Amino acid sequence: MIKKVLVANRGEIAVRIIRACREMGIRTVAIYSEVDKNALHTRLADEAICIGPAPSKKSYLDIKSILESACIMGADSIHPGYGFLSENAKFAKMCEELGLKFIGPKSNVIELLGNKSKAKQTMQKAGVPVVPGSNGVIKSKEEAQEIAEKIKYPVMLKASSGGGGKGIRIVNSKEELDKAYELVKQEAKASFNDDDIYMEKLIENPRHIEIQILADEKGNCVYLGERDCTIQRKNQKIIEETPSSIIDEKTREKMGQIALKAVKEIGYTNAGTVEFLLDKNKNFYFMEMNTRIQVEHPITEMVTDIDLIKEQIKIASGEKLEYKQKDIKIFGCSMEARINAENPKKNFMPSPGTITGLLLPGGKGIRVDTAIYSGYSIPATYDSMIAKVIAHGKNRQEVIAKLKSAVAELVVEGIDTNVDFILDILNNEKFITSDYDTSFIEKEMLVK
Ligand code: ADP
Ligand code: ADP
Ligand code: MG
Repeated sequence: MIKKVLVANRGEIAVRIIRACREMGIRTVAIYSEVDKNALHTRLADEAICIGPAPSKKSYLDIKSILESACIMGADSIHPGYGFLSENAKFAKMCEELGLKFIGPKSNVIELLGNKSKAKQTMQKAGVPVVPGSNGVIKSKEEAQEIAEKIKYPVMLKASSGGGGKGIRIVNSKEELDKAYELVKQEAKASFNDDDIYMEKLIENPRHIEIQILADEKGNCVYLGERDCTIQRKNQKIIEETPSSIIDEKTREKMGQIALKAVKEIGYTNAGTVEFLLDKNKNFYFMEMNTRIQVEHPITEMVTDIDLIKEQIKIASGEKLEYKQKDIKIFGCSMEARINAENPKKNFMPSPGTITGLLLPGGKGIRVDTAIYSGYSIPATYDSMIAKVIAHGKNRQEVIAKLKSAVAELVVEGIDTNVDFILDILNNEKFITSDYDTSFIEKEMLVK
């Protein structure tokens, strides 16, 4: 049984986890960096401990400091949230060795899936359709050229340890490949301390469709429908929705079953997301699996009425899933917009600073996941996402209307936000008629 969780994260996801624990009668320990002394997660947890200075490397990524804190505070488990150490196999392994329950899959599974090229090979062997490309890591520029000739340009070079949309580059020709090869390797090394890269055929005009799964430690698993995360900027998601307007019942079931096959093949446990790209002809290809709770998890919660964080904790406690696949029902439609502290007119430059006034939207079917409050100072050190506005309604049309109304109501004074940019997307005719692919922002959203 889990009695005391150390939340190894900050921001809205730390708050989200603390709330779930409190509702379950579980005590919480927040960790915070010096700059987060007054952060909401620090204040809301039952106990809090400072783990170091602002830079992530010295605090939220400092494994030793976090594990020491867990021991000092008497936590029996760690919830890693998303980002930071959530997909760090070494961290999960050290938790296992210390007898701290890591709320997520086993460290060996994280390790396998964290290596995106190896994960693809494993999935391919299990009969999961994958994006065509190199068979694992590319060892030389010559090999890269050979593979590109074979699968035909345009191709993509991707960092094997990549995440957060980084370390990905489109390559259109042999000439471009020469330069891109070195660049992506350098980027991969700098961002992920691993210069292994792999190649994929560029899927043209794709939709990003992902399947949420839950798997307990007794061999039971279910999928909770899909999320359409096609609205992206620089390979990072901005607006997500479920169900996808372009997925029919048959495709949904097919993708769900394939996701479960992947889960069983590798002995995956806890919550996870299998990401696919869907091409124009509705063929879908495995891209990667995220071994953690995802930023956009609330939209799945809205339509399934299942609390994913609580499920994660229950699974980690050794409980059996309460649901069989036939029990999973989807009610209506949900959409999320990520609100960032940034200025779209200045090339999306981050806009940290003090929030001098704040008005959050509400009403039927509106949920706001955030850790900001009036008077709070957003540090420049971390991710610029400050809130997620989530709408739930009968159908896509109603959900767009609700989300538009809610986002327009939101007032965050003292800093710049992407609120107007989000509203422009929600008002775009192509968005409304679902006539778009992952290049939507690039093609449709020229910032004035
Ligand atoms: P999700 O897959 O949950 O939708 P994203 O794809 O937006 O989340 O980001 C993946 C992970 O990387 C998240 O856990 C997020 O915290 C982190 N992340 C987001 N942006 C960046 C960034 N610019 N650099 C590094 N990590 C990032
Ligand atoms: P990350 O680990 O950073 O989330 P992903 O492999 O999930 O990286 O890719 C992020 C996004 O990049 C995808 O959602 C998609 O928009 C784009 N992308 C990745 N691979 C391809 C591909 N082979 N063809 C077209 N787009 C791709
Ligand atoms: Mg991804």
